[in-house]
Amino acid sequence: MEKGNILEVKNIHKRFTSKGITVKAVTDVSFSVKEGETIGIVGESGCGKTTLGRCIVRAYDASEGEVFYRTEAGEEVDFLKVDRKKMKSIRKEIQMIFQDPYSSLDPRMTVLDIIKEPLKANFPKMSKSEMDAKAKEMAEKVGLNPSYLMRYPHAFSGGQRQRIGIARALVLNPKIIVCDEAVSALDVSIQAQVINLLRDLQKEFGLTYLFISHDLSVVEHISDKVGVMYLGKMVEYAETEELFGTPRHPYTEALMSAVPIADPTIKTERIPLKGEIPNPANPPSGCFFHTRCRYCTEQCVNAAPEYKEITPGHFVACHRAEELTLKGIIMEGNKITLAKNEIPGA
Ligand code: SF4
Repeated sequence: MEKGNILEVKNIHKRFTSKGITVKAVTDVSFSVKEGETIGIVGESGCGKTTLGRCIVRAYDASEGEVFYRTEAGEEVDFLKVDRKKMKSIRKEIQMIFQDPYSSLDPRMTVLDIIKEPLKANFPKMSKSEMDAKAKEMAEKVGLNPSYLMRYPHAFSGGQRQRIGIARALVLNPKIIVCDEAVSALDVSIQAQVINLLRDLQKEFGLTYLFISHDLSVVEHISDKVGVMYLGKMVEYAETEELFGTPRHPYTEALMSAVPIADPTIKTERIPLKGEIPNPANPPSGCFFHTRCRYCTEQCVNAAPEYKEITPGHFVACHRAEELTLKGIIMEGNKITLAKNEIPGA
């Protein structure tokens, strides 16, 4: 593994077969993550981002590929190849936060028991008082009042339930957290609170995040680097500022054109994505995006573009990546403007 990397995802494929039909949910996805970084993965629903996250934590068995991980002890392992016993010990270091704070918590358990559950499963010899103390400490870290811990999840709001989910993920002292649409079910103001909490916890515990979301503005807020997925493939990957300011893939451009800009003096052109996302069981020929791309040429219909690095750290899968000038956006806090090359006369 390269120095400084905590995770290296290499050529991951995931296929599902049912009744003789094979669906390629994830095709040949690779990227690496430095310790303490946040990587955002975006795309429309059904693009394979959740499946990719689940393959990385071994909730699904990947059909092909490798996930190299540097453990807390400094050992480099292919997490997909380790045996069950080793996987269990490494799993403590790689946790997941789920989308739906309503259904991911057992309604029959008190909040204290929910937060303690991973400790019971992983440290059977830990005393009850130690577990209680650790769970209470985590509850406080995520802003939950410890005196409410004997209540049940239904007594909490959506934002508070997501805080419970975060405390449950943190109680094992993980190094990596995969956040799968972790704030999507929350109101915008609560989303901001939970994102700020995740950032604070990242600083305090040195966490590394893989942040999966369909919402570009959320991903921009929290990520150091962003990967854009379409129909199971990574089509663009770059540092956040670079990707938003200078997108190189027409799909990224179209996603950005749909982000609302709260300035009536700025006229933006929304780029419509023609039709529905194609059926992954029967994907289009050539470039998978060609049926919806306004820059499509004959070459795009006939040949799949290579995923390559066109400037340092900026990877794109598009035949026309070097020739097109695409529209980007710049986000500063809650303010969104057009990228410099889109402002007339700039
Ligand atoms: Fe569009 Fe062609 Fe690029 Fe695919 S390869 S994104 S169809 S321009």
